[in-house]
Amino acid sequence: QPERKSTYKIAQIGADGIGPEVIEAGVQAVHAVAKKVGTFNVDFTELDWSSDRYKKTGSYVPADYIEILKKHDAIFFGAVGAPDVPDHISLWGLRLAICQPYMYANVRRTKVLPGTSSPLKNLQPGELDWCIIRENSEGEYAGHGGRSHRSLDHEIGTEVTIFTRTGIRRIARYAFQVAQSRPRKLLTYVTKSNAMRNGMVLWDEVINEVSKEFPDVTMDHMLVDAMTVRMTLHPKSLDTILATNLHADILSDLAAALAGSIGIAPTANIDPSRTMPSMFEPIHGSAFDITGMGIANPVGTFWSACEMLDWLGEHEASKILMKAVEQTCADGISTRDLGGAANTQEVTEAVIQRIKAL
Ligand code: ATP
Ligand code: MG
Repeated sequence: QPERKSTYKIAQIGADGIGPEVIEAGVQAVHAVAKKVGTFNVDFTELDWSSDRYKKTGSYVPADYIEILKKHDAIFFGAVGAPDVPDHISLWGLRLAICQPYMYANVRRTKVLPGTSSPLKNLQPGELDWCIIRENSEGEYAGHGGRSHRSLDHEIGTEVTIFTRTGIRRIARYAFQVAQSRPRKLLTYVTKSNAMRNGMVLWDEVINEVSKEFPDVTMDHMLVDAMTVRMTLHPKSLDTILATNLHADILSDLAAALAGSIGIAPTANIDPSRTMPSMFEPIHGSAFDITGMGIANPVGTFWSACEMLDWLGEHEASKILMKAVEQTCADGISTRDLGGAANTQEVTEAVIQRIKAL
């Protein structure tokens, strides 16, 4: 449990596209809920780390960015990615530069919210209640590899997948703890250990070892291909899900789509050791097609703010904000992507009104 504070310092990084728009909405909501609870303040520091900064200076972040971040209790992040910067440059330049070294647990919750509808039949609000734990530091996205024989027909590109016993053990322990904290105490872990006979088999072995520390958690195993089928056809059979960096990246997008919209899903990048502040962001990207139109759905950012408040130990504030968001959705006040007619600011004001009334 974290130490409660009277003022939390939050690094605010809206970054690119609709990122700054949804983060601005999130900041308003957090201020409103802090005022409602009345026991703490939130002090946001806006950092201009973005693709615009990269285009001007050649770098997304200043050299001492880790020291700057360490002065904060959490990071509230929008989205990174610009049409005129290759995605692998922007992703590694900002998001992974922050998350990869420390925040080894990526937590993605999914639930059908009131007023939204799943493309799956017979799913009611509150159902499809999943928590996906994504290993966030190793695996397929470790950044190791190389290219040789450039531009020749026999050119080679390698992407080395790195798994370590330590890395698997720490994410497995974290996932079991999450599963243990949820009512169903059910963990499904995902690998591809039939085709990948080294690192994925190591996953199977280490997870089975760790499972002995958590006898009250029921565990089962899926291969990733079969997992997409189970998520789609038997969604209620799942609760907490653990998978590698690549697999969970794909499965969590599927999860967000099955829950109704990519605009509502949250992400928490957690450093369970609390060496670094953890980072909270909506799952969606910079969405340049709607940037500047004021119609971005802020719900994914609100939900990420709830996760942030929870991580800081402000559980009551988190509950109030989530309740206000659910009421707003249930009242049909939503943006176009959810079939509504409201803009970002109207949804934000509706949420703030409900916070005050709760
Ligand atoms: P990135 O490259 O950073 O992933 P992107 O432009 O591919 O960004 P995504 O966020 O992946 O955008 O989303 C794909 C599409 O979904 C967007 O182009 C947009 O139309 C829609 N979308 C995403 N997020 C939102 C949102 N918060 N509100 C409304 N529509 C959204
Ligand atoms: Mg995208």
